[in-house]
This record gives sequence, C-alpha cells and structure tokens, in this order.
Amino acid sequence: MLDYDFGPGHPLKPERLRRAIALLQAVEPLDVTDPGMDARNDVLRVHDPHYVDVVHALSSGDRLPDTLVRQHGFGSLDNPAFIGMYEASLAYSAGTARAAYEVREGAPLAFGLAGGLHHAHRSKASGFCIFDDPAIAIAVLRERFDRVAYVDIDVHHGDGVQWMFYDDPHVLTCSIHESGRSLFPSTGWVEETGEAFTSLNVPLERDTTGDVWLWAFREGILAALEAFRPEAIVLQMGTDAHVLDPLGHLRVGVEDWWCAVRLIRDFGVPIVAVGGGGYNLTTVPRMWVGAILTLLGRPIPTTIPDEIPAEWGLPSFFDREAAGEGLRREEAEATIQELRPILARIPRP
Ligand SMILES: [Zn+2]
Repeated sequence: MLDYDFGPGHPLKPERLRRAIALLQAVEPLDVTDPGMDARNDVLRVHDPHYVDVVHALSSGDRLPDTLVRQHGFGSLDNPAFIGMYEASLAYSAGTARAAYEVREGAPLAFGLAGGLHHAHRSKASGFCIFDDPAIAIAVLRERFDRVAYVDIDVHHGDGVQWMFYDDPHVLTCSIHESGRSLFPSTGWVEETGEAFTSLNVPLERDTTGDVWLWAFREGILAALEAFRPEAIVLQMGTDAHVLDPLGHLRVGVEDWWCAVRLIRDFGVPIVAVGGGGYNLTTVPRMWVGAILTLLGRPIPTTIPDEIPAEWGLPSFFDREAAGEGLRREEAEATIQELRPILARIPRP
C-alpha cells in the first residue's frame, strides 16, 4: 500500500499513511490483517475489465497510444502512470475489500485506511484515484445488506462512487464537500439526486467554518440517513476539509470533524471506514487516529506518545488555533433549504 506513490512533488504522499499507522500503533494496538493483493475480482465488481488491463499494462511499462492513455485518465499531473501502480492499487483495494468482507461476515467495524479513493470512475483514473475501493466495499456489503449508505466527508465531492451507484435504489451516496465552483471535481451539486433520490450532495462555499459544516452535516447527511435507514455504512474519512489542508479551502477543525464521525458511529449500524484525501502531514495522522478512536468509542488522548518524532509536528491531537466560526452560514442555510424537498423524496424502507 505504501508503494502507491505518484512520485516526488505529488501531494498524495505515502508518508501520510506511514505516520498515521505509526501513531495508531503507539496509542491503540489493533488487529492488523495483511489483506494480500488478491483483489482483481473485487476490482472487477466495479471497473471495466478493459480499464483494469490498461492499468496493468501501463504499470508494467508497456507503451500504449497517448489517446488511449488519456482516455483512461492517465498522463496528467494528477495521475501520472507509474511502474507498479497496478499492484499498489490492488493492495489498497484488497485492504478495503477485506474490511468489507469482515463486516459482511458480522464484524461491527473494520478499517481500510489506505483506501477511500473515491474519484476513480468505471473506466477512468481521476483525482489521484485508480481503483474505486469505496465502491468495492459497497458492492461487497450489498451481498448481505439490502440498504447500504456511503458517507463521504472528504473536502472533494465523492463523484466516482456517486456515479457508480447513481440510480441504484439500494445504495444512498451522501457527500459533504467544498462547492464545485472552487474545487475539483466541479460536481456534487444539490440537483444530482439520481433517479431514485438516493444521491445526496451538500456543497459548501469556500471558507465555511467547522461549526457551519457540522450543522450542514446534521441537517443534510444525518437527515438523509435517518430517512433511508441503511443497514450498513461505508464511511470515507478524507481529512482535507481541515483548515490547514493545502488543497481544500474549508475551515473545519478536528473536533467538529470528529463529531461528524461520532454521529455516524451513533447511528448504530456496521461500518466499513476507509481513509481518503488529506495533504498536510501535521493533520492527517492525528485526524485519522482520532477518527478510529472515536469509532471504537475510546477517548482521544490529551498527549501524543513520546515515540512519535518531534519533527513530525504533532504536538497534540487537538488543533492549536481555532479555525474561526460562523463563516458562510447564510450560503449553507440556503443549500439546506434547497435540499429539503430532496430529503423528503429519499426512499424509506
Ligand atoms: Zn479530497
């Protein structure tokens, strides 16, 4: 999983995962299972076989026509093809698939922290994402659960997952994110409801503060879950809504973000939790570990263990400076107003 690396200068650094795992092991030793890499069949649940072959060929160093490479999303600054990307993508997909199998077989909670790559489309890499592991988790859970919800708190719209299940009445996809006016992938509008009203989007303007974000989360996402009443949830925990994130422009702090995670836990159904975006090495590890502790019902420690190197810049789990409050409330209220008639049409069990 640590080999999933687009190279120097790319924001998606494997170091985010390495540091998160080190911090997690220092505070909460968990059962860690090696999921292997035998995920090709799980990848084929949601991806076109021809696309998977293209990923494999580029990963092996084969020369393919430029138009074909670009047609499948590679060759851009966001998604440069790299040697070994097929295997690395299988590895994180296997991690998420394994977590989903555990929950399908009765576990209340499992994590695939290297996953959460929510932008990949059926036949196209996009936004640093090659295989869409949250979609794989949904497909696995659907083998046991009739109604599955996907909740995406990454600052970017969870477009890949949304489009894969767009008209599926058994899968509710919910995403709260920075508006497509100012951020990739320029989708995730309120009007994107799917035919069955099982796609829900809460776009927020740039500079929205955590208190407003959390309010919109309750009024939009939680309200949708209460209507749909899923039997299991796939939670994408991108941390890039944080005020210190270099890619997003929201102003969410760790406590509001963890509060959203707690509200998902309190919903009381089995959860497959995956990682996602987050590009500030001083926020991603503590946010993910705090989210995992929250999902486990454990308190977040007041201090960082001594074995974590000081140069990682993690003096505390909590933020040292407030991210402000009350910004962009009027715009958020207008968005929730627009969402109310859509919430009313979400299919009830
Ligand atoms: Zn993101």
